[in-house]
Amino acid sequence: MSRKLNFAAGPCAIPLEVLEEMKENMVDYQGNGISLAEVSHRHKLYDDVHNEAISLMKELLKVPDNYSILFLGGGGTLAFTMIPMNFLTPGKTADYISSGAWAKKAIDDAKKVGKVNIVYDGKDNGYSSLPAASSVKASDDSAYFHFTSNETIGGIQWKEWPEVGDVPLICDMSSDIMSRELPVEKFAMIYGGVQKNLGPAGAAFMIIRNDLLERSPDNLTAYLNYKTHADKNAMYNTPPVFTIWGVKLFLEWVRKNGGVSGMEKLSDKKSKLIYNVLDSGDNFYKSPVEAAFRSTMNIVFRLPSEDLETQFVKEAEAEGMMFLKGHRSVGGCRASLYNGVPVSAVQTLVDFMKEFSRKNG
Ligand SMILES: *Cc1c(COP(=O)(O)O)cnc(C)c1O
Repeated sequence: MSRKLNFAAGPCAIPLEVLEEMKENMVDYQGNGISLAEVSHRHKLYDDVHNEAISLMKELLKVPDNYSILFLGGGGTLAFTMIPMNFLTPGKTADYISSGAWAKKAIDDAKKVGKVNIVYDGKDNGYSSLPAASSVKASDDSAYFHFTSNETIGGIQWKEWPEVGDVPLICDMSSDIMSRELPVEKFAMIYGGVQKNLGPAGAAFMIIRNDLLERSPDNLTAYLNYKTHADKNAMYNTPPVFTIWGVKLFLEWVRKNGGVSGMEKLSDKKSKLIYNVLDSGDNFYKSPVEAAFRSTMNIVFRLPSEDLETQFVKEAEAEGMMFLKGHRSVGGCRASLYNGVPVSAVQTLVDFMKEFSRKNG
């Protein structure tokens, strides 16, 4: 079998070892004569997987004891609605950073629930930059301060964390969770879809400080209330069993490969390989984003013409390098270098990029 090199922005590349292990245990889970896909989520076989996935998140991210870790359905997107429903106390304001496509989705949903204040809007620079972390301020009556650590489509990433004092800091980390060291204790909530950096699609992760859960209003329906899920260890209803199994195996792979600091080293190495090509000085490839905020996860780049970009994506695909087309809303090309993408794949892409610019420059 010759595996494609997967540079997709989501769902992500998954380490071969993880896929093989799933295959191995798909029909007969660890010699129990039954598949995990067919046992009750209350059965011990699944219970162990569930708790192991949660404890690996806790261990790898050094999550303090006063936080709840949940895996829920609905993706990162349902959280855009549930966060203001649970934590935007009536009469207060939710602060949001508008940094690009994903932040805007979170904002649009929050506006339908309550009062929103846009602390910073990247519209004027085409969402190619971010504010200095030290410059952003929460409102006086702030319920929480929300931002997006990595804009998957625009290719920009916060390098320092906003300091907003006692105001709960909430962050969508869908596309860079587990790719760098993280001071979890600075945040009241961290959440995102699992399908970029943690495993197969089908669940979202939530890390929520327990005092925040006290805000969830009683008049919310059960599923939409984060406290329901936290009180039941994310087993209020049937969890996305198959996905959480994949996450557990993915996290075991992360642990074997140096944990979060190992992933950070790999991310730095992989992204530098590509940015070095963009910066090589021949002006063939260009990065449209401000250098200080370049993402290590999603590298957006332009070629001299749209025709060349189309040709680039096509030729790369013919050589097994998949999904290098940029998001339709911004155009250009994009290489996503999530945890599951090996350095060797990035090296292959770099060699191809150099060859392509030599031939077409
Ligand atoms: C992918 C993504 C999401 C959520 O996607 P779902 O499909 O709802 O899981 C949210 N925010 C960011 C930054 C993303 O990259």
